[in-house]
Amino acid sequence: MTLRLHNTLTGTKDVFEPLEPGHVGMYTCGPTVWNFAHVGNLRAFLFYDLLRRQLSANGYRITHVMNLTDIDDRILDQAMHAGTTISEYVKPFVTAFFEDMRALRAQPAEHYPKATEHIPEMLAMISTLLERGNAYVADGDVYYRIASFPRYGALSHLDRAGLKAGARVSTDKYEKEDVSDFALWKKAQLGDEELGAAWDAPFGRGRPGWHIECSAMSKHYLGDTFDIHCGGVDLMFPHHENEIAQSEAANGKPFVRVWLHSEHLAEPSGEKMSKSAGGFITLRDLIAAGHDPLAVRFFLIANAHYRSRIRLSTEALHAAAEQVRRLREFADRVRRSQPAANEDDALVSHIVEIRAAYSEALDDDLNLPQGIGLVFELVREANAALDNNRVGTEGRRGLLNLIDEVDAHLDVMGGEEPGLADEVERLIAEREAARQAKDFARADLIREGLKQRGIALEDSRDGVRWRRVSHG
Ligand SMILES: [Zn+2]
Repeated sequence: MTLRLHNTLTGTKDVFEPLEPGHVGMYTCGPTVWNFAHVGNLRAFLFYDLLRRQLSANGYRITHVMNLTDIDDRILDQAMHAGTTISEYVKPFVTAFFEDMRALRAQPAEHYPKATEHIPEMLAMISTLLERGNAYVADGDVYYRIASFPRYGALSHLDRAGLKAGARVSTDKYEKEDVSDFALWKKAQLGDEELGAAWDAPFGRGRPGWHIECSAMSKHYLGDTFDIHCGGVDLMFPHHENEIAQSEAANGKPFVRVWLHSEHLAEPSGEKMSKSAGGFITLRDLIAAGHDPLAVRFFLIANAHYRSRIRLSTEALHAAAEQVRRLREFADRVRRSQPAANEDDALVSHIVEIRAAYSEALDDDLNLPQGIGLVFELVREANAALDNNRVGTEGRRGLLNLIDEVDAHLDVMGGEEPGLADEVERLIAEREAARQAKDFARADLIREGLKQRGIALEDSRDGVRWRRVSHG
């Protein structure tokens, strides 16, 4: 088992080896908390989660840092219109971000640093860049001098001439030496004080640019050189190029060994989805429309490889919900089954093969869709074997192991509310007692109550069984 990851820097799938044996340091660009995260952001965040889980499956200990950008132009703008400070303005969106991550079952990172809590680290790095001639002050602003960093563009494989032609020209900043130079520090503007968006600095009171925060915070938590940096593909240029330029010039060391980028979400299809707030769809919108967050999770990580585009649609989410339902039902069925007396040897060896192929797919640049395809083939075969009472001790154990291995990534098959199974069993016993006592009204009430919670009861030869049912 060897994990291979597609490194944007080399353009190839490379065998992953961390700097420190057994430990991975990774930095992932997090949300700008000016609003709720939209589904495209969530795709990137769940890609980070998938990577994390595969690193864990490979036995690595992880130090994962995900920043919260709590200062930027949009936040200043919104806070001003709301008549509040930036720190007050972002609070509900920070809370909402963590709620979304929990609802989508993203494993928490080790650190969630906020930009405004690391201003001293940014000032230190900007001062170093000034001393080394990689930055200059122009009318109270500080800019990075791209001409001082010849390797600029290496990540996105753009040449300097192309960069200049493609650079966004900021027409209001004539003080820059070069149009593609970017701001490290922005001079305080009228109103910034009231917004709580100005800090003292040796080069004048102001606030940091966006790019410097990731360089300063990754250095603080992970050191000058670390293993993995991730982001959506839209961040590759200029954000990640700028991070490399800042960090390598200031630290005099290589910055990141492996860069991973996840693809965009294509424009949503379907009239209803496209209409929703101009294509800006949040998890809250999807839940309000009746979608299960776990179907959203499945759709975002399992329906397409992280480097391919996917298109959000109601149909795609319904299909994902159906796949989640089938996997859940299968897992429940295997867990509740008694080993049959007869073992199907062909099935047992097929399970071994599928388990190996699944883990190989995940080691091949996180190819979860391929792995899931294999699993669904086996589910059909195993369900037929269960129907015919051909799953013995070994087959059952192999299936349980596979379910655990798959759910280590998907996280949709287990994770009932703690104590739910016991409570359901207790309610089933109560209902049985009510039926014995001919209190059918009470028995129906219990059944209805469980149904409301997404649990269906089935009377079978072995007594009453329960299963989860999907909503909608
Ligand atoms: Zn970043």
